[in-house]
Order: sequence, then structure tokens, then C-alpha cells
Amino acid sequence: MTLDTPVTTIEVRNPRTGVADYRFEPTTPAELKDIARAARAAQADWQALGLEARIAVLTRWVEKVDAAAPEIVAAVTADTGRHAESLREIGNIGKWVDRWSAVARTALTLEPTPTANPDIHSFADYAPYPVLGVISPWNFPLSLSLMDAIPALLAGCAVIIKPSEVTPRFVEPLVASIAEVPELAQVLHYVRGAGVLGAALVDEADMICFTGSTATGRKVASQAAARFIPCFTELGGKDPAIVLEGADLDRATSAILTGATLATGQQCYSIERIYVHRSLHDAFVAQLAEKARAVKLALPEPGDGRIGPLTFAPQAEIIGRHLEDARAKGAEVHSGGEIETHGGGLWCAPTVLSNVDHDMAVMTEESFGPLMPVMAFDTVDEAVRLANDSPYGLSGAVFGPEEAALAVARRLDLGGISINDAGLAPFFIGDATVAEKTAFKSSGLGGSRLGPDSIKRFSRRKALLVNRSTQKSPWWFDA
Ligand code: NDP
Repeated sequence: MTLDTPVTTIEVRNPRTGVADYRFEPTTPAELKDIARAARAAQADWQALGLEARIAVLTRWVEKVDAAAPEIVAAVTADTGRHAESLREIGNIGKWVDRWSAVARTALTLEPTPTANPDIHSFADYAPYPVLGVISPWNFPLSLSLMDAIPALLAGCAVIIKPSEVTPRFVEPLVASIAEVPELAQVLHYVRGAGVLGAALVDEADMICFTGSTATGRKVASQAAARFIPCFTELGGKDPAIVLEGADLDRATSAILTGATLATGQQCYSIERIYVHRSLHDAFVAQLAEKARAVKLALPEPGDGRIGPLTFAPQAEIIGRHLEDARAKGAEVHSGGEIETHGGGLWCAPTVLSNVDHDMAVMTEESFGPLMPVMAFDTVDEAVRLANDSPYGLSGAVFGPEEAALAVARRLDLGGISINDAGLAPFFIGDATVAEKTAFKSSGLGGSRLGPDSIKRFSRRKALLVNRSTQKSPWWFDA
């Protein structure tokens, strides 16, 4: 994207009606350059404010967000077609500001440390990257745009966010809330446009946090590497769940159903494939299908039922292709199994499949829908081999007696593993007591988003070394 690249109005489809009922003028390349210049200039003052003052500014912003909650929630609901998740998304803002503030107070405190040489004293220092560029996807448009931005702001960075063009409605009311806090408005900016604007942002920023598909993540990481700036990528997944002999079946089916269908399965850490010990397999499938059939679509209103529409129409095509491929290769469908059209929106009910294997796309490619393909295994080694047989390594779940489940979890090439539950990791974003996790394989690159140390990603480290000796140093030429 150059300064001369023409930008045209972007039309946005409503996921519940299928109608393009929203349009916006994208940020132009020249505007992006101006915003980056202004953000860079404002960052020094933001850093100089100090941590407590930055916390106070963000806390004031949370009050403005709360006051504007009805408009923001309505916009996120229109973007995604979902209501309960939209409430969760806005709730995350205050929760993350509180949690990351507590983490920052500890993690960014500078303590002098003694060194092996009694004369030399070491002081750590942090120099925040001036401008963080955030590029975020459509599946949790509000939360994922802010997940890295909040700790980065606390660390002293200015932040420019390019959310997905698929779900841009929330930006207007959110930016209005930011504008009510002038100190924050200097250093927290949203720009709107398509992928090309994301690429332009990579050229302006000093550091990138990207959340999205592995295909785009590769492009962004390559572009950042060419500029020699750090790039943290959180990408696609194909999370496995393993149900061991001795697992509590009722617990496993409830947790897996939720973990696979929350937000209609449009989550990176959705359970997308399930391996069950053969002794439990038939009962598991029957129970999971019975529970799946009881989960209602969110119709006629977004607040009804649990399963919202498929937000992004091309994703419905991928899910449909996975179902067709599985059926053609002999999979049995126990619930759901179709892309349905209601009121112009595209929907998919919780779908339980059995008689599946790794020749099917539904077991190997990211579906990003509420699909629960179940495959039997005979030995723990086989379960581990199947779970690790994936290009992805984001997260997963193991059900069974705790020691046995932990032993299996330690053998999985996955970053975040829930034991006797599913999808626990995201609940602990910003929590000072949770362990770190990194993405394995094609699910991402870079340090953890979880755990107290993750806030340190936003600063360069400095070592300030003081020699307090009054004597000549023995390593000097003339000592
Ligand atoms: P995409 O990779 O298609 O898009 C992500 C963002 O990148 C969007 O803002 C997009 O803009 C932008 N973009 C597109 N092309 C470029 C480019 N060349 N340079 C810079 N930016 C670009 O992902 P989706 O939006 O489809 O999101 C779904 C994916 O995100 C799934 O694979 C899911 O697993 C993953 N994800 C990962 C998470 C994690 O934490 N690991 C969390 C949530 C989702 P635009 O949309 O406007 O074209």
C-alpha cells in the first residue's frame, strides 16, 4: 500500500441477515502515516507519566466504556450476531485493566541486583517499544483487538490497532469512549481497512502483535522479519481432546460440548477433534450427541439460545466442505451436520460425527465451527500420536484420572492444556498466578500472552551496570 493506493468504501455483511447494512471509509495510507507519527510523538510523554498515572488513565477509560456499554455491546452483537459473547467481550476490558495493572506493578518494578563482583551493581531498566501495531481477527473483534493492547499501554507503548474489516462496527462507539480520555486518545488509535492496511501498519510499527490465520501470520511475520522488528503471532488451531479410560463421562461430554461449540466454534482454542478410549467410545458419542441436540440456535433474537450464526460467510463454505468430505469418506452424523440458512444468516448446529479418521479434512484442517468428530483409540501411545499428528499446537484437553491425564498432557505438543475441563487458558489472561504458555508448531511464534512475564514482551531490556569501586578496574590497560 503506497500513499497513492486508492481506498474505496468497504461494505459489511450482517451475519444474521446476510445483508450488507454497514459501510465505512477505510483509513488512507496518508492518514495511517500521520497517526503513526502522532502516536510516536505522544509515546514519550505517556512513558514519562509513570505506571501509576497510566493505570489511572486506563481506569478512567473503563468508566467511559461502562457508560457506553449499551452502544458498544449493540455494535459487537451486530458485528458477530452473538449477544452473550458480546457481553463477555466488553466485560474483559475492565477485568484485563485490573489484572494487568496488578501484574505491571510487580513485573515492571526495577530492583537493583548484586552481581558476582561486589563492586558492580546491576539495575534493570525497561524501554517500551514506542509504537505497537496490533492486527486482529473477526471472531472476538473487541477482545482480540485489546488483548495485547492493554498490557502494552501499561508497559508504556503507544498502540495502533487494525481490526478485521469483517467486524468493524464496534470501533465507532469504542473510539468515542477513548476520545473522552484525552491522554489515552493520544496513544491508543484504531485504523480501519482491509488486509492491505494491516500490511501498511507492519511498515509503520516498532513491534507487531498479530492474531489471525496461520496463512496471514506467515506473511506478517516475514514482513516484520524483513524490517527486523519483533512480531508475536497467535494463529490457528486444531485442538484435540483426549478422553482416557476411567474418565468421568458426564463431565467430559459437558466440557467438550461447551469447549467445541462456544461462540459457534469460532475460537482458536475450540476443541476440534476428540479421541476417546474404545471402552467409552459408543457411550461417549451417544451422550455427546444427546447433549448437542439440546443446545438451541440463538433464534429468533441474539439473546436466545447458545449458538449464534457463522460470522464470516466464507467460513461456512469451509465447514460445509469439511462435512461433505467426511460424509463422502464414511463418517456418521449424530447431530447437526448441515449449514442452515435462517433469515439470510448462515448457521450450523452442534455436530457430532463418528467413524472419522485422519484422511478427512475435519480431523486435520481448522474448521472454525461447532463440529465434534470423535475417533476411538486403544492405547495411550496411539492417542498421543493422533493428537500430535497436526500442523497446529495451540491448546487441548485431557480427561481422566488426574495423574494419568497429566502424564498424557506432558507428551502433547500443545501450549495450553486443560485437564478435566476445556478451554481454561483464556479465562486467565492477565492473571498473575497462571503459568505461561507458548504456541507450538504453526499455531504461532513468540513469547506467552499468559502469565506475569508476558507484559515484559512490550519493552526492550536494558542492563545499567554501575562500578562503585574507587580503585582502577583490573581489566583496564593501565591497572
Ligand atoms: P486472517 O488471518 O484472515 O485475518 C487476521 C487479520 O489480518 C485481519 O485484521 C485481516 O484483515 C488482517 N490481514 C489480512 N491480510 C493481511 C496482510 N497481508 N498483512 C497484514 N494483515 C493482514 O484471520 P481471520 O480474521 O479469518 O481470523 C480467524 C483466524 O484467527 C483463525 O485461524 C483462528 O484460529 C485465528 N485466531 C487465533 C487466535 C489465537 O490466539 N491463537 C485467537 C483468535 C483467532 P481483514 O480481515 O480486514 O482482511
